[in-house]
Amino acid sequence: MKHSNIPIFIPELACPHQCIFCNQSKISGQKEIPQPEEIPSIIETHLATMNDGREIEVAFFGGSFTGIPLDLQERYLAAAYRYLESGKINGIRLSTRPDYINDKVTELLKRYGVTTIELGAQSTDDNVLLASGRGHKSEAIRIAAEKILKNGFHLGLQMMIGLPQDSYERSNQTVNDIIRLGADNTRIYPTLVIKGTQLAKLHDMGLYQPLDLETAVKWSKEFYLRFEKNGIKVLRVGLHPSEELDYHKSLIAGPYHRSFMELVMTGIWRDILKQELRSIQNESLCLTVHPHQINFVWGYEGRNKKLFEEKNLNIKVTGDDSLSKYGIKISHR
Ligand code: SF4
Repeated sequence: MKHSNIPIFIPELACPHQCIFCNQSKISGQKEIPQPEEIPSIIETHLATMNDGREIEVAFFGGSFTGIPLDLQERYLAAAYRYLESGKINGIRLSTRPDYINDKVTELLKRYGVTTIELGAQSTDDNVLLASGRGHKSEAIRIAAEKILKNGFHLGLQMMIGLPQDSYERSNQTVNDIIRLGADNTRIYPTLVIKGTQLAKLHDMGLYQPLDLETAVKWSKEFYLRFEKNGIKVLRVGLHPSEELDYHKSLIAGPYHRSFMELVMTGIWRDILKQELRSIQNESLCLTVHPHQINFVWGYEGRNKKLFEEKNLNIKVTGDDSLSKYGIKISHR
């Protein structure tokens, strides 16, 4: 079933931290914090465009929701809960920091029907967490994840790649830990240098170098496949261009691409095609894949066509929805 979030951004509300990469007001593209009284009209506006029977969740994103005073959290939650009770939405999700999960918080979130808690884990390596100014250690992620699952919530663990002190091995270990901790879903965010952040200063002084786009896509591709193989839903790879980052104004450096996910899928299909077509050349072939995958077989801006040209293959691609996501049938034409 189609799923949509009604995103409500609460940027850096009550967040006493200053993570090195974060300037929430820039990332969410807004400086004003919506008040609890405004929540119904935000929800109504979105609902008006979503009346096709899809699954809908209200999502409090953009900061550390559970860092807000409990009474204010309750006012936000109560506003969304009305829509859950009346069946107009199917769930409430929110994002927060691992060290902002405690028994009082989980009790409140349960009472107001919160379904999913996403933790900005970012990395499970203590060196990376320290260098990124996160203000907690990896242990906090484990404790929070266990508490969330024990209380019956779905668990999201978001990660970032290319943070200061990060390496392929450390990001790879973070992926292993996210799987081991029992996450239901994840998001992979390549680290970007945003104006007004500490990271921008370090970058300015030549003390931080972001991943290049090719490396970020390569790591994301591998991690994406591993998460999928382990039954963890990857909700997003890269930042959403329109919603979250006015990149012309805010981005200083880093592996940003408006079609980042498409680049990842292009890479996944390039690997599949290389393998499947390894001993074939000078042929006219029909490749049949799941209809949702046809564009990725050709690749972003037709980049996978090069592979066909190198092998002198005349290719036609058709769709068959009985095939699995990465299934492929090859026939002669
Ligand atoms: S990333 Fe989250 S915890 Fe860190 S400064 Fe931004 S809002 Fe606060």
